[in-house]
Amino acid sequence: MRSGMHTLSVDWENSSKREAIMPSKERPRPAKTSAKTSAKTSAKTSAKTPPTRSHTRPILPPPETRSIILEGTSVSYQLRVSARARRIRFVIRPTSGLEVVTPRGISRAHIEESLRARARWILTTSARMAQQAPPAILPPLAAGALLPYLGERLRLVVHTGAPDGHFRATLAPAPENTLTLTVHADDETHIRTALEVWYRRQAHAVIAGRLTHWNSQYGFTYQRVAIKEQKTRWGSCSHKGNLNFNWRLLLAPLPILEYVVIHELCHLKEQSHAPRFWALVAQTCPDYRERRRWLRVHGHELRF
Ligand SMILES: [Zn+2]
Repeated sequence: MRSGMHTLSVDWENSSKREAIMPSKERPRPAKTSAKTSAKTSAKTSAKTPPTRSHTRPILPPPETRSIILEGTSVSYQLRVSARARRIRFVIRPTSGLEVVTPRGISRAHIEESLRARARWILTTSARMAQQAPPAILPPLAAGALLPYLGERLRLVVHTGAPDGHFRATLAPAPENTLTLTVHADDETHIRTALEVWYRRQAHAVIAGRLTHWNSQYGFTYQRVAIKEQKTRWGSCSHKGNLNFNWRLLLAPLPILEYVVIHELCHLKEQSHAPRFWALVAQTCPDYRERRRWLRVHGHELRF
């Protein structure tokens, strides 16, 4: 699940955390910094360096928009020079398109040559991103909203009267499919906060249950199970055997959540994504390819 990977991906904890899509050849060695850190650093270097310190800190040129013809198609990209980059890197995001990050002192000709060498990947990935509907404008969270939950839609019922900082939630499963929330105040902030807490708790219970179920077939050993909000991944498995999952998996159909559970379980035995790894996954999830594809296509829709 590495090459040409979507920002929302299942990944091994030691791998790059950056919100990036890049061909495997361009992929840096296991990153020591997260995307957040490097973004912050470069912003600081380029924007905040006071003139008096310019002799100690090299000034980077500001990002620049350029374009190139690749296989007959005009492709525009944002060029960013980074003090930390050690090689040319391509990042494609659904919202902002192609970004080319280069070390200092790389010539335009060299950059364009790299772009041409990666033309096929850039064009197909950009096309795939463009096909994905732009993030819909979500309706405000209020009574009556329909919340995705493991393939069902829960109708939200809202009551007020809970003490500030507290809420109560009651799930009436199918056929009712309602989630009744008692919050302090009937506004979007209170509702959203309560919902996210509730989804996290549910995610913990559901995922712990699915882990136990699937691991009865594998018999691996894992340590802590944590539920997180990770921007760039659905799950991870640390070398210590801790498993992390994104609570938003609860917004996906159950088979998708199960695929991520199985994927991370199998990393306990096999850290890489080598064929051995996929063979382990396929033991309990023979259609894992379809489930992966679903996540790639629909992952960005898993929100409310
Ligand atoms: Zn993985």
